[in-house]
Amino acid sequence: MRDLRSVCVYCGSSGRVSDRFKDAARALGGELAANGIALVYGGGRVGLMGLTADASLDGGGQVVGIIPSHIRDMEVDHPGLTELHVVDSMHTRKMMMFDRSDAFVILPGGLGTLDEMFEIITWRQLGIHDKPVVLVNIDGYWDRLLAMIDGMIEAGFAQPAHKDLFKVVAGIDDVVDALRHEPTPVIEPQTKWL
Ligand code: AMP
Repeated sequence: MRDLRSVCVYCGSSGRVSDRFKDAARALGGELAANGIALVYGGGRVGLMGLTADASLDGGGQVVGIIPSHIRDMEVDHPGLTELHVVDSMHTRKMMMFDRSDAFVILPGGLGTLDEMFEIITWRQLGIHDKPVVLVNIDGYWDRLLAMIDGMIEAGFAQPAHKDLFKVVAGIDDVVDALRHEPTPVIEPQTKWL
């Protein structure tokens, strides 16, 4: 079983989304707090990001926000966090979020969420880390992305084993258990290039 002290959550910064996604964000924040797991995230108080952070704080959890100075105004930094780090660039933010976290959870989100998700999955593919990654497929939101990945495998651009780089769960109740029990994927990078 993996030791989880802090979990990074990647999710949408938009608030104009279905309540189902908002409820999931709140439930995840509460679940992390209830399990004594600190939340690491982008530091904003907008969209699903803010809801996850609020729920975690309300549940007595620790929340670490990391926000670049140039988007601090756009994403409106959260005033009540346990720690807020204002950093110089997106790259520093992503690196610090990675360093501070034992595992990663991806909730529904937009282009920024996709960027963060693929970075963390491809770093695992390259053997840069072996931290668990869980994709939460609320209401089948990620079905089209998963179909795209199947298409990549079918076309030979990815291997079936690459699907072991992350685990897909249908709801928040399964997240912590999935993270704790995620096995190390067996990936042989060289086979992709031969
Ligand atoms: P979005 O899913 O587009 O709402 O964005 C979610 C989070 O990803 C926000 O905190 C954005 O600041 C962040 N984000 C947007 N673009 C990038 C990027 N290129 N690299 C890393 N994070 C990003």
